[in-house]
Amino acid sequence: MAESIADSIAPGSVLVINAGSSSLKYQLVDPATERVYADGLAERIGEPTGSSITHEVGGRERIRRVALPDHRAAIAEVVELFREDGIDLAAAQLSAVGHRLVHGGREFHAPILIDDAVLAAIERLSPLAPLHNPPNLVGVEAVTALLPDVPAVGIFDTAFFHDLPDAAATYAIDTEVAQEFGIRRYGFHGTSHQYVSRQAARFLGRPDDEINQIVLHLGNGASASAIRGGRPIDTSMGLTPLEGLVMGTRTGDIDPGIAFHLARVGGKSVDDVDRIYNLRGGLKGLCGENDFRAILDRIEAGDSAAALAYDVYIHRLRHYIGAYLVDLGRVDAIVFTAGVGENAATVRADALAGLEGYGIAVDPARNAERARVSRRISTDDSRTAVLVVPTNEELAIAQQAAEVVLTS
Ligand code: ADP
Repeated sequence: MAESIADSIAPGSVLVINAGSSSLKYQLVDPATERVYADGLAERIGEPTGSSITHEVGGRERIRRVALPDHRAAIAEVVELFREDGIDLAAAQLSAVGHRLVHGGREFHAPILIDDAVLAAIERLSPLAPLHNPPNLVGVEAVTALLPDVPAVGIFDTAFFHDLPDAAATYAIDTEVAQEFGIRRYGFHGTSHQYVSRQAARFLGRPDDEINQIVLHLGNGASASAIRGGRPIDTSMGLTPLEGLVMGTRTGDIDPGIAFHLARVGGKSVDDVDRIYNLRGGLKGLCGENDFRAILDRIEAGDSAAALAYDVYIHRLRHYIGAYLVDLGRVDAIVFTAGVGENAATVRADALAGLEGYGIAVDPARNAERARVSRRISTDDSRTAVLVVPTNEELAIAQQAAEVVLTS
């Protein structure tokens, strides 16, 4: 079977890489047919014990427990796993390696062929995304060392939001300080917001430059965007992915003064506050749990901390929906995506409850249906279509990477 997969890999396929600080996700996909040949996840890279790679080809998953001292070792092991399946990545006529890159700052508004100058720019932008850009860079270097002849393309999480209107992108702080330190709203999850909004337009059978949408990407990380005629006019994440909605472990919006209070009264350092906000906040901070399924189970069992966490989550989500309804004026579609958005019917129902007066009505039976395809969950007479659209960042990255190679 492995042989047949190896033989069937279409020339022009793309290897998608998403390198985090201690993990590396990958997928081998044909951007034209959308066929996924393989995907996997290397975990606990750089940890002394417990590292592994979960590798799936042709529906067959295997887990390799192996020391992964760094990303380069992880990539070498992934290449080897492919080789064992009869797939020589270097000879597979890949059109590109598509790298998910988190922070493109003011410089990058579109996917780009990665060369030394681009690498240097990503490094320069690292202070804006210290948790993300450095491992992204290591991923690019590690893959390029093993597949030097395949063009590397960078797809930035911030790119879709590059041209936000000034009023949305500007924080009301001292302009000189903002300029000196690059402080503005950049936005993240852009690849998903772009992909999902285009899929939604396609689902509705309307050109995306004619419709206004609110996209709610609710995963472990969560963000909202207001999109007018295909272009975002606001988004909930800001200088960093910390701002906005309540997330799995991140606080989202918070009074900036809390940081001063924690420092002055609690003696906390900047790094302490960073951890409190980014790792110990959000749903986890409120009820000790960031897996949404587990939270729903606990609510069912009468757990009050889980119920409060859920209520805070929904309260914030509704605030953003309300703000974006006003920002957009007319909203043709509200679109739910990512793990929670695609699966948690109760979140969708609660987020939009009582908005019939605004022309938004969720149909309970449609909302309760489970499916892995785009679908409409609003009533037939709801003026605004409420949709569930599965996100697919890997496919979006692969398609953008292939296009960059084709056009450059
Ligand atoms: P990320 O890519 O940001 O890590 P995902 O988009 O995979 O996150 O979303 C993960 C979240 O989705 C988790 O909180 C998980 O519990 C939640 N989730 C997945 N399936 C369901 C489900 N059936 N019901 C409720 N929540 C779910």
